[in-house]
Amino acid sequence: MPENHPRTPLPADDDADQERHARLRERMVSEQLAARGITDPDALRAFRKVPRHRFVDPSIQSKAYTDCALPTEQGQTISQPYIVGLMTQALQPGGARKVLEIGTGSGYQTAILAELAEHVFTIERVSSLAGAAAARLQELGYTNFSSRQADGSLGWPEEAPFDRIIVTAATPEPPDPLLDQLADGGRMVIPIGPRNSQELTLITKSGGKLRRTFLCACIFVRLIGQAAWKQ
Ligand code: SAH
Repeated sequence: MPENHPRTPLPADDDADQERHARLRERMVSEQLAARGITDPDALRAFRKVPRHRFVDPSIQSKAYTDCALPTEQGQTISQPYIVGLMTQALQPGGARKVLEIGTGSGYQTAILAELAEHVFTIERVSSLAGAAAARLQELGYTNFSSRQADGSLGWPEEAPFDRIIVTAATPEPPDPLLDQLADGGRMVIPIGPRNSQELTLITKSGGKLRRTFLCACIFVRLIGQAAWKQ
């Protein structure tokens, strides 16, 4: 279970704010996701529901539903909605028993996954981000997730195997511990490549064999850890 992190709770939206944000989400879903091929109805339902503005700093809340990545603390980012959509659709988390997410960041992708899968295990390297995301997810009522501050390139061996693994930071090659912890029949989505240009890749495991499918060109922050970039 997530640890408790003392933090001032975000003020709840009043009714007018809730309606305004719901309209912005509806527009984000139709213009940025559905219009570009993210059509899975369950995924779209999750994107309509999760209040993305609660996952960004109050100073940039007005940009929460725009078509771009946004900064979080410590020089990290919350991915563009379309990229979160593409990764979610490729992962197919619907009904999956155990999903492992590496790179919790703001916790936005975690919330989308928690809407769709039975349980999400999420790992973040930066302790302040891990704490803030866990507190935020708890405040929003999510109970089907576990979070920890650790080096996610090593996975979460005690909970393996995972039906789905999603990595939201880039690495030159997929970390071996994560490939080992992927269940047979499982799917992994991960950006692979050098520092400033990567290929978002779907990896499937079947009969012990791994197969890679290219999804799109992308740029993510680096996955830093023992089985990834060394600082
Ligand atoms: N999915 C996030 C975006 C994450 S950005 C969101 O929706 O907001 C990538 C995150 O990966 C950063 O927060 C970074 O600190 C984290 N990260 C980098 N290396 C890591 C590692 N080895 N283990 C876990 N998290 C890592």
